[in-house]
Parts: sequence; C-alpha cells; structure tokens
Amino acid sequence: MALATSVTPGSDFSAISPYLQVRESARAKRLALRVEPQSRCVYLVVPQRTSLATAYQFALSYKDWIADKTGKFLHSKPFEDGTVLPIFGEDSTLRHIPTSSARTKIYFAAEGPYKGDLCVESSESIVPARVEKFLKSHAHRIMEPWMREKAALIQNLRKPAPNHSPRKTTAAATISKADLLRLMGIKSPAFKARATSIPKPTSTPILKIKDMKSRWGSCAVSGEISLSWRLIFAPIVAADYVIAHEVAHLVHHNHSPSFWTLCRELSRDFDEGTRWMKRHGSELMVYGLEGS
Ligand SMILES: [Zn+2]
Repeated sequence: MALATSVTPGSDFSAISPYLQVRESARAKRLALRVEPQSRCVYLVVPQRTSLATAYQFALSYKDWIADKTGKFLHSKPFEDGTVLPIFGEDSTLRHIPTSSARTKIYFAAEGPYKGDLCVESSESIVPARVEKFLKSHAHRIMEPWMREKAALIQNLRKPAPNHSPRKTTAAATISKADLLRLMGIKSPAFKARATSIPKPTSTPILKIKDMKSRWGSCAVSGEISLSWRLIFAPIVAADYVIAHEVAHLVHHNHSPSFWTLCRELSRDFDEGTRWMKRHGSELMVYGLEGS
C-alpha cells in the first residue's frame, strides 16, 4: 500500500495523529479504529469501497479520542533500571545490579537498601523479556491461591485439596495465608450463610496466566480460568474484582443478575474494583512497552 506517499491535500492522516496508520481491508465492512498499545499504533481500518476522503473525515471526527488513547503511549514504562512498577498497588523500583556472574537472578528484595524492589542481578543490562517472564510467574504464584480461596467460598466453604506443587520462591515472593485473607477482605456472615445454597461449580478451577490483548480474564466451561499477567500492576481491589468475576463464572456462565450478585459477594470491593478497571484498565498495557 502506497497510501502514505499518495497524500492529497486534506488527507494527511499523520496530521490527525502521528500514531495513525491506514490499513485497507478487503474483509472490513465499515470504518474502524483499532488501538494497539503494543505496537504503539492506532490503525484506521478502511474497507475497499470506502474513499480515503471519507476515511479521513471519519478519523478526524475521532481526533480527540485518538489523542486520549495515544497519550497513554507516552507514559510507557519500559522494563529498565529505575522504572517504578506498582505491584498490586505497592511501588517497586526495577533495579539493575551488575554482577560478574553469567547467571541472571531476578527477585524481590526482602531486606537491605532495595527492600521491596525488583532486583535484576545480571552481567548485562536488564533484558525486558526476562523481567516479563518473572512477573508472569509471580502473577501466577499470587493469583492462583487467591482464585482458589474465592472458589472455596462457593464450594460450600470447603477448601479444595492443595494439589499444586508450590514453586521455589524467595521469601518475599510467596504469599502467606494471612496475607491472602487480607487481600480478599473478610466475607460477611450473611454471605457465609448463603454460600451453602449456591450451586457448586462443576470443576475445581485451573488458572492459566496469559498475555491477553482485549480482556483481563476469561472462564471456560471446563473450569479453566485465564487471567492477564498485567493484573499484577493493578491495585488489589481491581485485581480482586477480576478474579471474583471469573470465579463467579464457574457457577453462572453468563452475565445474568444472579451472576452479578455472586460477583459482588465474592469481590472485596465490587464498586471500587469495577470503577478502577473501567477508568484505568488500559493503563495496565503500558508496562514493558519500549520508551518513546
Ligand atoms: Zn464475564
């Protein structure tokens, strides 16, 4: 496509936004804008039969919307020395600690000057892919017992057997029962009484941590719950709401009023959680993006 070079007056798309890219599509039925934070682009999808002049007017009418979306690209937080990462709402600075060892070590410092920080001991500079891999497994370590505790609330308050083998972790990376209960908040006695009448999920949930592009979680009928690893950058109430949402789907595979009632009951703070995800959810995508 030579669209960029065939610019006629009034069709300079880059004047609308430097991030705007035009894509002609044989399959598309209508004009659409697609934001892709990973590639720092907003794609204007143009059906074959639509003129560029029409496409230009369409994009122009969304100029503010595009600016709002791409403004977030500028606040990208690359995985490099000094970047502050909010790990479940608590700031943790990414630190590169040079070492002569050929082996890279990544851990949350439990003590010392970098207490609470995410340290990367490495002979070379920080490799973003290594940090991402570490954070994915950390997200799994934290969110799996979190999900299980919530599922236990609807399995007649019986605990599922801990049949998963805990991974080897540093002290700071494991989660204690007390921390977990603090994460979840305490459920009201009224809910505990009602919990026995809620249908049991047909299966014990299995958690998969994924890199999801357009949603934060999903729940398959088989009981497999998928959560985005990026929830690690959300405050506790927000991640808690997403987990509650997917766990509630173990019982109700729909968004019926009964689903929402249960979702609310399983959430630590449903209103605050949903509000945060609605307002700030897209910001979770900026972590790990290369700087502008
Ligand atoms: Zn849902």
